[in-house]
Amino acid sequence: MKIKTCKHEAHNSNFSQRLKWALEKIQEKKLRITNPRKEILAILAESRKPLSSDEVFKLLKKGKSDLVTVYRSLTTMEELGILRKHDLGDSVRRYELAQEEHHHHHYIHCRSCGSVEAFEGCAFEQVIYKSLKNKGYQHIQHNLDVQAICSACA
Ligand SMILES: [Zn+2]
Ligand SMILES: [Zn+2]
Ligand SMILES: [Zn+2]
Repeated sequence: MKIKTCKHEAHNSNFSQRLKWALEKIQEKKLRITNPRKEILAILAESRKPLSSDEVFKLLKKGKSDLVTVYRSLTTMEELGILRKHDLGDSVRRYELAQEEHHHHHYIHCRSCGSVEAFEGCAFEQVIYKSLKNKGYQHIQHNLDVQAICSACA
């Protein structure tokens, strides 16, 4: 699947900040920082689009891990709120870092041609997040993937 990735300048500068966030989350959740987990998080921190377990596996250094370990790590870290899972309409699970308070992505996919595009700006973060925090909620996660008919197909 071809995904039009986000061109936001945040990606040029905050790789180490994103990775640091993820590693802190791992410790907070009492998971061990294993080499595979660290490498997977580095790959996701660098990526401008969500990646499937196959794609993450291909980007890992050869022989460092196996597909089952990658799959399990992704699932575990998603359950703990470190990763965000995306459903882009082709029943492949893709993951990216689940940062809420920094730059993050949502996707819109066309039901007709299947094109996928990241969009900037998150209403949840801008409007809802603050009010939930004021009510005392913490460790907030949200999922939002949008379907539509794109302008080329309309
Ligand atoms: Zn972006
Ligand atoms: Zn379309
Ligand atoms: Zn959001």
